[in-house]
Amino acid sequence: MNLLIMGPPGAGKGTQAEVLVKELSITHISTGDMFRSAIKEGTEMGKKAKEYMDQGGLVPDEVVVGMVKERLAMPDCAKGFLLDGFPRTLPQAEALDETLKALAIKLDGVINIDVPREKLLARLTGRRICRGCGASYHVLFNPPKSEGKCNSCEGELYQRSDDNEEAVSNRLDVYESQTQPLIDYYVKVNLLKNINGDQDIKKVLDDVLVSLKG
Ligand SMILES: [Zn+2]
Repeated sequence: MNLLIMGPPGAGKGTQAEVLVKELSITHISTGDMFRSAIKEGTEMGKKAKEYMDQGGLVPDEVVVGMVKERLAMPDCAKGFLLDGFPRTLPQAEALDETLKALAIKLDGVINIDVPREKLLARLTGRRICRGCGASYHVLFNPPKSEGKCNSCEGELYQRSDDNEEAVSNRLDVYESQTQPLIDYYVKVNLLKNINGDQDIKKVLDDVLVSLKG
């Protein structure tokens, strides 16, 4: 099985990716890890990427795609892979298609973890930090024993400015506008599997597995 996974911030994509690769015994390729190891191992594309990063610039698509190509050609991808965090834009998806063609690899599905916006907002704005000791809480998932107060030092809890509703809303808008063309693209080639991510992890996994059989 050769798969892609995508999903907005807060949808639990990372967790889902971990359970899915275990279940299918395939290789998890997260772009963050791929970057770090390409640079550490000094692959051709890793060296190029490092040059751009050292200059404080963005790594251009052709280098990122080159890194994906190097990674997909490694032996552990022969048993199947789950690509996570790439592509993010339509040009990247088109470049990935070319690369897959060149490597004679066929994609079996693109998993899109879908969670209603209100739920994402609630998850992403829920973090609270202690002014005293820096401990981190979440109003839904890890609430303090008494509201607004740190369990260990009784310090005041506050919301970081990048966790407020406006900032989170902007982040989701950017994600949506980048991703919609990608979703349309994978619908058109009949690969998109829309999965309801607003359920427990096991149920999401079951739905993914069912969608891949169909
Ligand atoms: Zn504290």
